Amino acid sequence: MSLPASVRVIERGWLSANNIVLHDGEGATVIDSGYGAHVPQTLDLLAHALRDKPLTRLVNTHCHSDHMGGNAAIQKKYGCRTSIPAGEAPIVDRWDDQALILAFADQRAERFRYDDTFADGDVLRMGGLDWRVLAAPGHDPHAVMFHSPDARVLISGDALWESGFGVVFPQLFGRETALAETRATLEAIARLDVGTVIPGHGRPFQEIGKALERAFYRLEGYEEDIVRLARHTAKVVLSFAMMEKRSMPLEKLPGYLESVPVYVELNARYLRMTTAAMTEWLVGDLERAGAVRREGGMLVAAGQ
Ligand SMILES: [Zn+2]
Repeated sequence: MSLPASVRVIERGWLSANNIVLHDGEGATVIDSGYGAHVPQTLDLLAHALRDKPLTRLVNTHCHSDHMGGNAAIQKKYGCRTSIPAGEAPIVDRWDDQALILAFADQRAERFRYDDTFADGDVLRMGGLDWRVLAAPGHDPHAVMFHSPDARVLISGDALWESGFGVVFPQLFGRETALAETRATLEAIARLDVGTVIPGHGRPFQEIGKALERAFYRLEGYEEDIVRLARHTAKVVLSFAMMEKRSMPLEKLPGYLESVPVYVELNARYLRMTTAAMTEWLVGDLERAGAVRREGGMLVAAGQ
């Protein structure tokens, strides 16, 4: 893997985004802090990666719970400077539950402070390299990526994964432009000189052409049929919740789907199913995908 020696990727799963540690002379920067439920593990992994060096800066690609859920704990431990995308600042200031996708989707994060912001076109010095900040709207309207032309590395957050990209919420926030933004962001990635992508989830990869091909194919499916995107969104949000909960009594699921706003809105606008039908469809589909299983009246997350 052709990553500069100063860049270390701590690969996590899906509940926590990857943490990227960039070593600078005396200190280090970390990009993204994982999910709140994983804080003890994140702090251990980070301490190991830092090897007694001070953590001087915490940076976020965007402010979703799996990327900033460990911010408060990292600040408490290291007292580091914290920098976030400028577009996220007003949302973090008012701790906007819907825009941050917290209780709105049954997710949680401890409130944190930030010291400064950066925006498209800025250059951040991290790990002895200059990283250009690139706006990456789509999955999150205020998300950014970091590109080092010298190292030919792109830190893509959830704008591009080896297989796909972070879920785009279909017009839930009055954002009719989310799919067009996603397309523009993928096209911008295609124009960059990149040898290695460090995604927000999954391992770093080098076959960028293939990843973009898969991403565009997926995007076209959503552009053709927005209901397909709504179905995908409901499944992604429920499997994320199940990763945290690990199990839930099946009889509680219909009431759960009626109480968490994201499902209510997706159903009212796009899916238009009875709660019973929605429950059966979600469980069946997630079961077929290997994300959950039924066991003695319980819905259990895979790997538990
Ligand atoms: Zn995200």
